[in-house]
Amino acid sequence: TDIQRIRNFSIVAHIDHGKSTLADRLIQLTGTVAERDMKAQMLDAMDIERERGITIKANSVRIDYPAQDGHTYVLNLIDTPGHVDFAYEVSRSMQAVEGSLLVVDASQGVEAQTLANVYQAIDADHEIVPVLNKIDLPAAEPERVKEQIEDVIGIDASESVMISAKTGLGIPDVLEAIVQRLPAPVGDRDKPLKAMLVDSWYDSYLGVVVLIRVMDGVIKKGDQIKMMKSAATYKLDRLAVLKPQMVDIPELGPGEIGVFTASIKQVRDTKVGDTITHEKKPCAAALPGFKPSIPVVFCGLFPVDANDFEALRDAIEKLQLNDASFSSEMETSAALGFGFRCGFLGLLHLEVIRDRLEREYDLDLITTAPSVVFKLHMKDGEVLDLHNPADMPDLTYVDHIEEPRIKATILVPDEYLGDVLKLCQDRRGIQMDLTYAGSRAMVVYDLPLAEVVFDFYDRLKSVTKGYASFDYQITGYREDFLVKMSILVNDEPVDALSIMVHRDRADSRGRAMCEKLKDLIPRHMFKIPIQAAIGGRVIARETLSAMRKDVTAKCYGGDATRKKKLLEKQKAGKKKMRQFGKVEIPQSAFIAALKMD
Ligand code: GDP
Ligand code: MG
Repeated sequence: TDIQRIRNFSIVAHIDHGKSTLADRLIQLTGTVAERDMKAQMLDAMDIERERGITIKANSVRIDYPAQDGHTYVLNLIDTPGHVDFAYEVSRSMQAVEGSLLVVDASQGVEAQTLANVYQAIDADHEIVPVLNKIDLPAAEPERVKEQIEDVIGIDASESVMISAKTGLGIPDVLEAIVQRLPAPVGDRDKPLKAMLVDSWYDSYLGVVVLIRVMDGVIKKGDQIKMMKSAATYKLDRLAVLKPQMVDIPELGPGEIGVFTASIKQVRDTKVGDTITHEKKPCAAALPGFKPSIPVVFCGLFPVDANDFEALRDAIEKLQLNDASFSSEMETSAALGFGFRCGFLGLLHLEVIRDRLEREYDLDLITTAPSVVFKLHMKDGEVLDLHNPADMPDLTYVDHIEEPRIKATILVPDEYLGDVLKLCQDRRGIQMDLTYAGSRAMVVYDLPLAEVVFDFYDRLKSVTKGYASFDYQITGYREDFLVKMSILVNDEPVDALSIMVHRDRADSRGRAMCEKLKDLIPRHMFKIPIQAAIGGRVIARETLSAMRKDVTAKCYGGDATRKKKLLEKQKAGKKKMRQFGKVEIPQSAFIAALKMD
């Protein structure tokens, strides 16, 4: 393909502003997929993504577009994950294209993820075309949103393309804007091969499929290639473009985007951001900015039924085939038995993996409290990463503890600002900035990640009735006065409930957890003390009184079917319970106990 007739782009948007719908329209209008094969949200492959409306894996499609100037252009759309947990993947895919469509819902305006994503595009030196979507809605205010884009983001929005991805209005204008306003890629065909590894995924028929962007040189089927960072070499089995199904192609030249397979066993062997070159005639320097994604949020996953341990191990291994950023190692807990300590890129990533394990592999799981990675500076000078509060060593060996901090950006309508500030303040936040964009406030807070991993999103949504948007990035580590708090149920420590907490908050957190657990644990035939402790010192205590009568007595004796129903219900409930010494604790209690009001 003539490099002047190539346009590579991504679409950046806040969630629900219409990125997937627009991508579908572009694919549909250019006849890339036959009408009968078109299903809504072509690019969001997984069920969970579809249900939650988020795109997790970057994916790509190649569109042939006959433009008004009489030439046919090749448009490559790389679909980037929209969520902060996958920020590194976003920044990689941005490096692989020259321009972005900035989609903003004209009835909502700029949101936190609009900002986070557009800044990534600006960092990658993209040409940006603002696209105002949903202009079919009566609440759409395109003129106001244009002003907002100029004020808040600082780019020219006077030539925004007005569309409705839903009705198809304006889609031809988007295609023309891509051709006319986005630059063609640059690259040299005669130089040694230099291609960027943009993404990879596991396909049960093909093995690992690798998405690449060629910078210089030409890659052909059968080539012997080398991944520069991992130093592994492979022979290319198959070279193709995605339309979006794989269509074989003899070669890819500078500016082109496509996929290959090469008998690569696992996704782990392909590092996003790595440089691919020819083994025999390598390029001089690798592409800059290669960086592995590191898990920052950890939690324990245990099967409710101990017999499911092997099934859980298999399921985790299968998911890891496709997701190198999700780590796991075996863990034994006195209370929960055998399970895994798993690491994730963020909270959403954790939820997605847990959902998939439960749904696709039909496992009942206990998820322990999510925890961040604390840095323990030991008195002997060693620095240890603490992934699990249960592993906290004796304090006499610890000099000080550091925790990860984030920069959080929150956009919120004026009337909820007070509640948002209070929430952030309660979570040990430090206000960094407060500005206005129309009737919306933009607040920037420096917060400990540990205070965000439990239920910050939920609380933020509830105090703002869903009107706030939120995004964050990790900024670094800082020392604070952190202690491990343990929970004892019936005098036995439940390690899955231990947490690291700021000393000043320990008493109130301890009290709140004991009160919560008192409600969450069903009554037994005996009295159960519930305690919170730091070291050997109890800081809070509740007592769950004993159950007096047989529960079925409630059914007024006679009605046998009601009695049976109640017993069945209890039995079903049992499956979700876990035995701790003599006490049964419901699975749901592990997360619920940690929620703060
Ligand atoms: P994404 O999260 O950015 O990928 O957003 P989606 O494409 O999934 O769209 C989110 C929701 O907005 C869906 O329910 C779409 O049907 C709806 N939507 C998308 N574009 C339009 C539009 O132009 N007009 C209207 N009224 N709804 C739209
Ligand atoms: Mg989407």
